[in-house]
Amino acid sequence: MSTNTDADFQTLKTTGIKVNYLYVCERKLWLFDLGIAMESRSDKVLMGKLLGESSYPREEKRELLIDNLINIDIAGDEEIREVKYSNRLAHADRIQLLYYLYYLRQLGIEKRGVLNYPKMRKREEVVLTPEAEKEVETALIRVKEILEMEKPPALQRKPYCTKCAYYEFCWG
Ligand code: SF4
Repeated sequence: MSTNTDADFQTLKTTGIKVNYLYVCERKLWLFDLGIAMESRSDKVLMGKLLGESSYPREEKRELLIDNLINIDIAGDEEIREVKYSNRLAHADRIQLLYYLYYLRQLGIEKRGVLNYPKMRKREEVVLTPEAEKEVETALIRVKEILEMEKPPALQRKPYCTKCAYYEFCWG
């Protein structure tokens, strides 16, 4: 299967957070989809939100929610930006932002992406190259496969398990 047609994209499109979780942990993605725990209660997520809101006091935040699926932190004329608490899960942040760029491209909108890690004073550019586009398509197909599984993917210890909202469920 590929996402070469609009029909494929309509079938595969999902939320940004699910694409992010695919790279964090496939089991987490499955559990999140099932709604076993409320991720919004996680202190880390809350901290990230607070930081995102306070790190750019002089800049007008222009959040953009599209189709209730992707929620861009800051949408500018040339670029879109995501503000993250730390770069511990940079690979997941990157695929999420690539997915946003991909999503916008399906709507005929071309932008650059920037990942901001204000606490670390870091900024990383993300560009939707043809290779990155393929990576996003592979990720979308994999997300669908995971969500269709009847049981959660097998346990696999990750370095960040203890900080995960599902830690008790997985390892308790
Ligand atoms: S606790 Fe670890 S294995 Fe379980 S969902 Fe979270 S990251 Fe994945």
